[in-house]
This record gives sequence, C-alpha cells and structure tokens, in this order.
Amino acid sequence: MIRINELQLPLDHPAEALRQAVVARLKIADTELLDFNVFKRSYDARKKNSEITFVYIIDATVADEAKTLARLADDRHIRVSPDTGYYPVAQAPEDLTERPLVIGFGPCGLFAALTLAQMGFKPIVLERGRDVRRRTKDTWALWRKKVLSPESNVQFGEGGAGLFSDGKLYSQIKDPKFYGRKVMHEFVRAGAPEEIMFVSKPHIGTFRLTGVVSTMREEIKALGGEVRFESRVVDLIIDEGRIQGVRLADGQELRSRYVVLALGHSSRDTFRMLHQRGVYIEAKPFAVGFRIEHPQSLIDQARLGKYAGHPELGAADYKLVYHASNGRAVYSFCMCPGGTVVAATSEPERVVTNGMSQYSRNERNANAGIVVGINPDEDFPGGPLAGVELQEHLESRAFELGGRDYCAPGQLVGDFIRGTPSSAFGEVEPSYKPGVRLGDLAPSLPDYVIEAIREALPAFGKQIRGFDRADAVLTGIETRTSSPVRIKRDNESLQSINTRGLFPAGEGAGYAGGILSAGVDGIKVAEAVATAMLADFTK
Ligand code: FAD
Repeated sequence: MIRINELQLPLDHPAEALRQAVVARLKIADTELLDFNVFKRSYDARKKNSEITFVYIIDATVADEAKTLARLADDRHIRVSPDTGYYPVAQAPEDLTERPLVIGFGPCGLFAALTLAQMGFKPIVLERGRDVRRRTKDTWALWRKKVLSPESNVQFGEGGAGLFSDGKLYSQIKDPKFYGRKVMHEFVRAGAPEEIMFVSKPHIGTFRLTGVVSTMREEIKALGGEVRFESRVVDLIIDEGRIQGVRLADGQELRSRYVVLALGHSSRDTFRMLHQRGVYIEAKPFAVGFRIEHPQSLIDQARLGKYAGHPELGAADYKLVYHASNGRAVYSFCMCPGGTVVAATSEPERVVTNGMSQYSRNERNANAGIVVGINPDEDFPGGPLAGVELQEHLESRAFELGGRDYCAPGQLVGDFIRGTPSSAFGEVEPSYKPGVRLGDLAPSLPDYVIEAIREALPAFGKQIRGFDRADAVLTGIETRTSSPVRIKRDNESLQSINTRGLFPAGEGAGYAGGILSAGVDGIKVAEAVATAMLADFTK
C-alpha cells in the first residue's frame, strides 16, 4: 500500500472528491486506484477565520505500486505504508495449567486480559467494583442522592476510571509498534463508532463506552478467561521476592506466579498494602487545581470563528499552558467539550471533581481542569505515600468547604481573581451534581497553587477571549490528575524491580495517563506476561 500524507480538501467537500484527489495526487488513472482508506483525518484551526481544511493521511492500493512509487520518489509526502497490524507474540501451550491474574478491569486491565485471552492464556480478572450496569446505578446515586458506594463509583468497577468520561482516545505516547491501533480496532469490534480509527481526536463518550466494555468482557470469557467482580485484592502472597498469589477481602486465596497490577490512581488502600509488603513504590509528581466551566459556544467561537457549530467539526476543545511568576506551570487538563463536571470521589467524606461527556458532546458548557504541577521534592517530601496523604487531606478539606454533603466548593472566576468570596451565579450555571456551594476557593489548595491560577486565568483570557469572564465557574477540587505513586518496574521484563512475577501497569503504577495509553500499556504487559510464562514453562 502507498501512504499519502498531507492531502488537503475543503471542509465541505463532497465524498467523491476524496477519490479524485487521491488519483490526482498519485498521477494515475482512476482505474489504477484499486482501493483506499483514510488512515487519519484532522483539521487545522489555529489561524482563526482563515479557511479550515481537512488534512488527510490516505493508504491506497494501486495496480502497479513499484512504478507509482518510483515515479513519485521526490514527493516526501508519498511513501510505502507502514504495517500497523497487530501480531501476537505467543500462543499458550495446550497443557499450560497456570493462569495469570489481572487485578483491575479499567482500560489497562481490560486490554491486558483481552490480549492474554486472545493468546490462549485464560486470565482471571479480579475487580473490586461491580459490573457496568450495577455500577452505573451506584454512581448516579452519588450524583442524584448524595449516597456514595465506596466499592462501586466513578473510579471503581468494570471499565475503570475511564467509564464515566469524555472517552477521549488520544495520547502523546510514543507508539512505534502501533498498539494504539489495536486498542481502537478492539473498541470498534466491540461497537465503538468506526470513525475513531481515523479522526485525529477521537472520543466515544460515556454511554457508548459502557456497551463496548461489556462486549469486550464477554469476549474474554468466551476465550476461556474469567472476570470476577466485587473481588478486592487485599494482600499479596510473596515468597523470597517472587509473587505466588493474592488474597481477597473475603479471605479467598488465588495462586499464580504472574500477576498484573492494573489498579488505577485511586486505590489508596492497595498502595498502602503494597508498601507494607515491601513492593518498591516511590512518590511521583501530579497536579492539583479546579474545574472551570464556560458556555461551549464561547469556546466554539474563539476556536472556530465563522465555522463555529459546523457539523463536521463538532464542539471545539482547547489546550492551554502558562508559566507563572512563582515558577509553577498551570495547564488545562482533560478538557471535555459539551460535557459536565462530575463528582469523582471513591471515599466517604471527600470531594474531588473530573469531567465527562456523551458522544454527542451537546451539553451547554465546556469544562476542563485548570491545574498546577506539584512534585515530591518541593511540595510533598516524606516518603512514597506522601502524595496520597496530601490528596486525602485536600479532598477532605474540599468536603468541608462544600458543606459536608458531597456538594463541591465553587467560586466565580472574577471573584477568584479579586480574592473575594462569591455568593450568586451569573449566566454560567455549573453542571456538577449534587451541587456547587459558592464561597472562597483560596483555602482549598496550597497558596502557591492559588497564586499561579490567579495569574494564569487572565493570561488564558488573552488566548481565548472570554476565558476569564467574571461569571465563569470554578469548581473544586481536582486532585486525581494522575497517580501520586510509581510502582517501579524494569524496562525489559516489565516486572516490579523487587517482586518478580508482579507486573505493575497502567495509570496507577505511573506508566499511563488516559484511556488510550492505559490500554496500550495493558497490551505491552500482556506480552511480557506471556513471554515470561512461556519461558518458565519450557524450562
Ligand atoms: P483505572 O481505569 O483506574 O482502573 C483500575 C481498576 O482497578 C478500577 O476499576 C478499580 O476498581 C480496580 N482496582 C483497584 N484496586 C483494586 C484491588 N485492590 N482489587 C481489585 N480491583 C482493584 N482519560 C482519557 O484518556 N480520556 C478521557 O476522556 C478521560 N476522562 C476521564 C473522566 C473521568 C471522570 C475520570 C475519573 C477519568 C478520566 N480519564 C480520561 C482518565 C482515565 O479514565 C484513566 O487514565 C484510565 O482509566 C486509567 O486506566 P487504568 O486501567 O490504568 O486504571
């Protein structure tokens, strides 16, 4: 196949124009183009009010590939297409009886289990939360009735933290083996829209993701794997630096010398257990801040100008960074176009926010985290779990400031910049449920974070007109931007550096940040597990 990069067409081009453009670009007759598909489609909207065009990457099959490539050898945008297919690294022998365990069924555990199952390794997944159907009910109980289920919520349960989300599926990780394509391909096979394979910033949205995840669970089971919900791992069985199995909250023991640890960033009790058991953990940087909400129309107008509301472009997003005079970096995080701010705690008497949306992204507000990077050396010295303790402390304080009933503390942007408490909303109505209690957000986070955000908001207003409008709403607090710990593994075998057979993976272990990268890490770790199991089996 031949890869054509940078093929530009007007935003409103008719469907047949693409084939004509491919033929023209390859300088061949129409009959010589046997087939083609869109590998990626993006648009560039950085120059406001100039024409926005689609930019395509195309893979084409032609009658005489060698001749066509030779003729276009000087065109740096035309090359042989790379092979982006996925090829399993192993196949489990028929008589292999030992089964790998996968702890956690978020995107990382899901892809680790699916990949292992596809290679014949029959994994057993242990997930502390409930299946998507019951979990959805439990999560809504917090949002609607202020009732939290500590084992079944936005963070815990089938699909992991990414289930109630915007379902953004892009990442800046290096992916030389195209594992990201496998993640997308599996999602599409399980019912996600085909377009996620080629649009430059794909997203699925919460509602569709729930169906996709349960379809994938059924495939794992059909391949001989098992998925056990309400199965919280509370202890590891370790013998002479080698994992031998795990213990569950109900006292059951499961034996295996191969355990994938795909915990996510919120399993604080499990981090503590790992530390107690001597598994090597270190503190790592993360970020804290607030969610900000504006009318989506304001963002569309600022980003897309005369194209605002164009059906091919959808709701616009943004990405902002500012270096504050106190040395801190302030940046937007997990921006959700046309979405809602959600209560994302997994622990009683704590408040933490995040954002989600449906596939349509048609809610009235845009929201994003506005966060400040913090690090163990400067901001939370004191050992591997100091970041966890800081998060707990801040989330408890946010619970107090919100009125002790899972409402979140909030403030209008104008008041926040001036340093005066807010008492009434303006035009922007916050979407956070069960509700936002207006007041002063300054006591909710360390002073250097408040100062940095105060300085950043007017600067962001210069990049997006109206970003610092007085009635935009800040809702606090955002603390779970990434894991506060790294469960260190060696780069070759992907096993814990001091506990053999334990494979730390995904966001909780510090090796991913987001759904796509967590899925990719799950695939990598599945391959490492399969390789280790085969090597031990054939010894
Ligand atoms: P998780 O998804 O956190 O999964 C870990 C799983 O392990 C959980 O289900 C948990 O119950 C289970 N577990 C933990 N401890 C134990 C134990 N001891 N025993 C058994 N099971 C255990 N990312 C994006 O890329 N795009 C987005 O649009 C996006 N939106 C988000 C919106 C929200 C509201 C949230 C909370 C997160 C969002 N994220 C988004 C982040 C994304 O969800 C995470 O990066 C991703 O889910 C991490 O995957 P993971 O598998 O490593 O961990």
